[in-house]
Amino acid sequence: MSSLAFKPTAVPESPAGVPGAAPRLVDRYQRVVTYLRMSVTDRCDFRCVYCMSEDMQFVPRERLLTLEELALVGRVFCSLGVDKIRITGGEPLVRGNLMSLLRELRSLPGLRELVLTTNGSQLPRYAAELRRVGVRRLNISLDTLNPERFRRLSRTGELTRVLAGIDAALDAGFEKLKINSVILRGRNEDEVCDLLEFAGSRGMDISFIEEMPLGVIGDHDRAAVFFSSDETRSALERRFSLLPSPERSGGPSRYFRVRETGTLVGFISPHSHNFCGDCNRVRLTCEGRLLLCLGQEHSVDLRRVLREHPGDEEALRQAVQDSMDIKPKGHDFDLRGAPVLLRYMNLTGG
Ligand code: SAM
Ligand code: SF4
Repeated sequence: MSSLAFKPTAVPESPAGVPGAAPRLVDRYQRVVTYLRMSVTDRCDFRCVYCMSEDMQFVPRERLLTLEELALVGRVFCSLGVDKIRITGGEPLVRGNLMSLLRELRSLPGLRELVLTTNGSQLPRYAAELRRVGVRRLNISLDTLNPERFRRLSRTGELTRVLAGIDAALDAGFEKLKINSVILRGRNEDEVCDLLEFAGSRGMDISFIEEMPLGVIGDHDRAAVFFSSDETRSALERRFSLLPSPERSGGPSRYFRVRETGTLVGFISPHSHNFCGDCNRVRLTCEGRLLLCLGQEHSVDLRRVLREHPGDEEALRQAVQDSMDIKPKGHDFDLRGAPVLLRYMNLTGG
């Protein structure tokens, strides 16, 4: 990517009404936003049954934010106190020239953590480079250790390729690797112990995720396959000792230390445990919509701001600050009936 075309302006000295304090993003419920999840593409080489429909229509390219626009958004958020950015998608590693964006983000003052979520398929090619550009931690999705099941759940993925990707990530020396597993009744709930064993024996943490009702997927009735985090935890406790851990991410995860492996296991439970009270995050879709809550439609169109005021950092900063007034108190996911949210997870940036 060429050097960026935006005109940096002075970062405001302090938030309104707080002389001398560093600028921060604070919503109406006094929650401080310090974490941005940035979807860099809606495209993916997989079609996971819980994430996409089989015949997904992707966003026309001109509606995707450019790498320069993404970098500017990252810069503005960091100037407002965000210190962690997660790159996601879609599959972030299929976005052309992603490494140049990561390099730009890595150099932002105030950014403490640059992390990425991936399906692992491109890691044999990119793991070492990701580490070199300064990505410290990776989340890698893996729902099953059975090649046929893997093909059925991902529709187009190859388990061997993802396992090779995990090996490449282990070799590259990341500070931390975590497996993400979405658990569905009748599909992979009988593998929760094996998945924990797989992760733990390699020194990796693991999070088990309850399926969320985003988008019309066609493959299954989400309510019928719902497998709660409490059920996952009971299944794990037949084989492992889970010790409550104080670890918090400001998100929907609750963590336990696994006595047998020394690693962490997390449960991401938007249905069975409310996690909104200490929410510290917002999401940017690949089209530049700033979503104030994963489970609601409250959003601000940052692409419009970016394109009506090209390179104007101040206009963008104002729009981001104003967005705090519409961050909702919480989500109300419900698996029964039609999905309330028609947007898919790959658009949203899970
Ligand atoms: N393609 C990358 C991957 O799969 O890791 C990053 C994007 S993906 C949308 C991010 C995470 O969201 C993955 O761990 C995936 O399993 C999870 N996910 C996708 N659809 C979901 C859904 N409907 N409910 C819960 N988790 C979901
Ligand atoms: Fe692709 Fe990730 Fe969605 Fe699977 S969960 S289809 S890998 S974006």
